[in-house]
Amino acid sequence: MPLDSLSRSAPVVFKPCVTSTNTLLKGLASCGVPDGFVLAAAKQTSGRGRLGRGFESPEGGLYLSMLLYPRCPLERVQTLTPCVAVALCRALERACGVTPEIKWPNDLLINGKKLCGILVESSTVRGRLYVVIGMGLNINTAPADFPEELRDTAGSLFGELGRRFELENVAAAIIEELDAMYAAWQTDPACCLADYRRLCVSINRPVTLIRNGVSRAAFARDIDESYALVADVDGAEEHISMGEISLRNA
Ligand code: ATP
Repeated sequence: MPLDSLSRSAPVVFKPCVTSTNTLLKGLASCGVPDGFVLAAAKQTSGRGRLGRGFESPEGGLYLSMLLYPRCPLERVQTLTPCVAVALCRALERACGVTPEIKWPNDLLINGKKLCGILVESSTVRGRLYVVIGMGLNINTAPADFPEELRDTAGSLFGELGRRFELENVAAAIIEELDAMYAAWQTDPACCLADYRRLCVSINRPVTLIRNGVSRAAFARDIDESYALVADVDGAEEHISMGEISLRNA
């Protein structure tokens, strides 16, 4: 589906190359850009991940951010990240016939490799809360286009399935699923919980939790109603929200 056939009021801008779709949209939030505005790119020169990490963004990938002005308490914004993960799985299923797995809290995997990273950032402009939901997806990226240090852990649709996809079609499906998810999320932040639990591969297994460089062994049991990870850590049950935590399989 071409991007211009989407039925939505907010514009979608697709650029060949930008610094970072999230950074640019955050700048545009103060310029009166409308709710739902999308900036997508075929390449980023300064892609960003969580916790100050970089996101490699070579040509072949799809880098897309959406600006939202939710009317909700700031704490609720955390629940958008897992909902974006579910919306992306739905979009990739529809547009590419593939169902990725979700690694808690914010990565999509294909064959155990990282297919997509999600970065949700929020702030206020003139007292109004805004949120930028950003994602980088390795669609037609050739394995050789990943830097050496990511070749074992990063995966693309092309690398895993041997097929290429039209970026515009994938972007259109993603935008439709994000719009539908956001409409549902505004009335019920737990709208994606059942799908998140079904797609999440981080539960019922030993894991390592990493916070500020300190690793702790844990057993991940469940995802609670606010999408926090329920884990046994040092003999006690903890509900771990995504904040500053990274997770690895033990
Ligand atoms: P992690 O992936 O380590 O669990 P995270 O989910 O917090 O952490 P993100 O913010 O989603 O990480 O992405 C940043 C990390 O993803 C980088 O530190 C790097 O390890 C990895 N990475 C960077 N670029 C890509 C890419 N194009 N594809 C897959 N993985 C990438």
